[in-house]
Amino acid sequence: MATSEQMRVHGLWIDGAEHPAQAGATFAVHAPMDGTLLGYAARAQAADADSAVLSSRRAFPVWAALPPAERERILLRAADKVEQASAALLDLVIDESGSTISKARYEVTYTANLLRAAAGEVRRLYGDTLPSEKPHRLSLVIREPLGVVLAISPFNAPLVLLAKMVVFPLAAGNAVIAKPSEETPLIALAFAQILHEAGLPPGVLNVVTGYGGECGLALVQHPDVDGIAFTGSTATGAKIAQIAAPALKRLQLELGGKNPLLVLDDADPVQAAEVAAVGAFYHGGQICMSSSRIIVEKGIARPFAEALVRKARALVLGDLRDERTAYGPLITPQALEKVQRHVQGAIAAGAQLLAGGDVYNGLVYQPTVLYAPPLDTPAWREETFGPVAYVVPVDDLEAAIAAANDSAMGLSAGVLTNDMQRGMNAARRIRCGAVHVGTHSFQSDALAPIGGFGLSGIGRSGGRYSIEHFTELKWISLELGQTPRPF
Ligand code: NAD
Repeated sequence: MATSEQMRVHGLWIDGAEHPAQAGATFAVHAPMDGTLLGYAARAQAADADSAVLSSRRAFPVWAALPPAERERILLRAADKVEQASAALLDLVIDESGSTISKARYEVTYTANLLRAAAGEVRRLYGDTLPSEKPHRLSLVIREPLGVVLAISPFNAPLVLLAKMVVFPLAAGNAVIAKPSEETPLIALAFAQILHEAGLPPGVLNVVTGYGGECGLALVQHPDVDGIAFTGSTATGAKIAQIAAPALKRLQLELGGKNPLLVLDDADPVQAAEVAAVGAFYHGGQICMSSSRIIVEKGIARPFAEALVRKARALVLGDLRDERTAYGPLITPQALEKVQRHVQGAIAAGAQLLAGGDVYNGLVYQPTVLYAPPLDTPAWREETFGPVAYVVPVDDLEAAIAAANDSAMGLSAGVLTNDMQRGMNAARRIRCGAVHVGTHSFQSDALAPIGGFGLSGIGRSGGRYSIEHFTELKWISLELGQTPRPF
């Protein structure tokens, strides 16, 4: 029998309180690990999107006018409260997104870190004074918040990615409406509640739960939404860009990746395999920056692949609350079907299957290693978003860089080498938003610019890059006594 928590309907978070959707609709939230019912969330439609935007518009000038020190205090207090609430947040991240305890801990710790980083940015909303061409002119440049920012988040890191898109626009004085993934609405509501308890005024952060094609679309189309921060798939990002274009909304899109990890032949193959396994298999590969294409110089390709296979076979799968567990389930049966299709397609095209290649249990897929040259198949071209490492042997560094750049996406890359000259050469020539020399492609840093080339997105988030994106520059000039020029 369902418990009262399982039967609970979590309302939309608007104006600092829970509200049912106006049409009364709800949707069930299930744990991907075993299908357990976690509760119900309000299923918002266009009318609810309108209410959220109205509330945000009212809250925006109040928040923007608060002295920076007050905004800073609230964000710092929220960071402490995230840490205090960590036990409950960990449970929600584990249950809702199928994360392991260690991945959930990373999300909670990093969210507190993001809040503190954003609090630091509040005091750095600097402007400029410009040397003017006119002798009697004082020229100032100031930064103003954009207004109402919509943050649309994906399922795979439901707390940290939502937080990243919320805290920096808030720091800059914007009001934010969060639209979390329909797979993970509850953690977003918990996060908003914490910010509220930390003193965030009502309406400054609203959370609208529901489906992308319903409330998500309504929010993107809404004329009173000024900017959009979106993290999700390239297909959805492109759709949002198209819808937002006529109103010229400010867009920041963080989209998919098909990230290369280069292993150069001076690297130790066993150590490199340890690093590559984290890059490829962390959270079952459901990470935008996961190292899904592993490009290895042929001198060490075989010993590297053998070490990666040993590592893959030794990974512990299963109990999400066991510290040793490497990863859990894929998010949905559709996600599992895609992974299977990619693997089968690569094998049919001639790839060797060195490890895995099948379901482990439920939605948990085995750590899988494919070995092949670049094959024009979805496993090489498209985001698999599963625990699949596609290992490609190449002749030399030139071929490795060419293979790395053989993608329409360009989010993140890694280069494993002890030769800094070759490492930096690769870093300069790989067309990605980030290149990490000495480690795999999945790295984050609160103040670093996160984003990608090509189909991986537009704009950068993180620290001052988010602040710059979600503020307007205004030039103010002051005439100091010049008489008007005759016509
Ligand atoms: P998704 O694109 O299916 O959904 C993302 C969000 O968009 C969800 O909240 C969804 O409800 C919403 N949405 C869907 N259609 C919409 C519409 N028409 N209008 C408005 N909103 C809409 O992505 P997902 O499956 O949740 O997440 C996985 C994807 O996210 C992967 O492609 C991954 O690479 C990407 N991702 C990118 C980054 C990055 O930093 N670049 C980080 C994490 C995940």
